[in-house]
Amino acid sequence: MTFDPLGSHPVQRCQICGSGGLRSVLFLGYVPPVNTMLPVDSVPSAEMRFPLELKRCDDCSLVQIGYGVDQRILFPHSYPYLSGTTRILRDNFRELAIQYRDLGLMRGNDAIIDVGANDGTLLQPFKELGFRVLGVEPSQAADVAAARGIAMVKDYFSHAAAKKIAAEHGRARVVTAANVFAHIDDVHDVVEGIKTLLEPGGVFISENHYLLSLLETNQYDTIYHEHLRYYGLSSLMRLFAMRDMEIFRVKRIATHGGSIRVFAAAKGAMAIDASVAAALDEEKRFGLTDGSALGDFRTRVMQSKLDLLKLIADLKRDGKRIFGVGAPSRASTLITYVGLDESVLDCIVEVKGSHKLDKYMPGTRIPVLDEEKLYREQPDYALLLSWHIADELMGNLRKRGYRNQFIIPLPEPRLA
Ligand SMILES: [Zn+2]
Repeated sequence: MTFDPLGSHPVQRCQICGSGGLRSVLFLGYVPPVNTMLPVDSVPSAEMRFPLELKRCDDCSLVQIGYGVDQRILFPHSYPYLSGTTRILRDNFRELAIQYRDLGLMRGNDAIIDVGANDGTLLQPFKELGFRVLGVEPSQAADVAAARGIAMVKDYFSHAAAKKIAAEHGRARVVTAANVFAHIDDVHDVVEGIKTLLEPGGVFISENHYLLSLLETNQYDTIYHEHLRYYGLSSLMRLFAMRDMEIFRVKRIATHGGSIRVFAAAKGAMAIDASVAAALDEEKRFGLTDGSALGDFRTRVMQSKLDLLKLIADLKRDGKRIFGVGAPSRASTLITYVGLDESVLDCIVEVKGSHKLDKYMPGTRIPVLDEEKLYREQPDYALLLSWHIADELMGNLRKRGYRNQFIIPLPEPRLA
């Protein structure tokens, strides 16, 4: 008997090109939805888990999740927004605004629309450069942006929504979307919506977690059901080509453990920068284009799990106490795949005000507790679950008073 709750379903066709030729890359087990967290001290009852499989399309090279979980399960009403505003993110968007200005594409009082604008972090530096800014964001983060003086449309983005926005607010010289392409179901509808928002000659800039970075640094923990797709440049080019657009400039950036920023415009509107061919060449050399890099990835993911377990096993044999630090979505994949539980991690600490406090990590009885506990109890080791910003994080934790050692779980488990 099979049971697919609500609209959840196996993904049988490529989400960009529609091909049925999807090949399994990696199976991370049956994983609970990351945003469903039960209150501490609640009695365990039945919990949902879904297959977490990574698949690759052999026709267009898109890497994608093999099972689509219904949005009502992934984003329950209790789901609070996560602005996730780190220093790296703020610096990145400032750098983006400056790159845009320095490319000489800016004209006077241009308008910019940011799709999935969150709390306005991307738009802020553009506003300071003199742009007229508008954000589109469905969650409460829109209210945070509005309070900062950024004009907002509080709505889900789609082609239909874009028509309404263009009619009410006018079109824009620049449209941006950071981490939108991975989350929204119908990516073709999103690109059509973006075309609707762009003035003739306008530029679309998108940033997405980059598949090459994911593979290079073994970031299997960024694989979870909210992230439907994992892009390389070649798969993005295919997507835009299908919608009569093309990518004319590319840049690798540091956000989210390694992302790719692409500039796109109507086909033929812009001269193609040398960065595009250079990035394609790099993907080819790495084995992304023919998919050969993915077999190696599977082996490295398995090995890193066993290495982390061995490191932790030795510490626990010596009676050491370990707390986890930070409960981002990626922590849930790592904990589930590696199989950590409350007998290994006493707790996971989070900053004051986090909506995850006093709840259990999905699928476990590991409680998420106030960070104060880390400074008060000084466990022997702190496992960094936001390891992709380990340097920033370790500096902060030291400043606030943690004195013992860190465990950095990936790309290879190590102590610091
Ligand atoms: Zn495809």
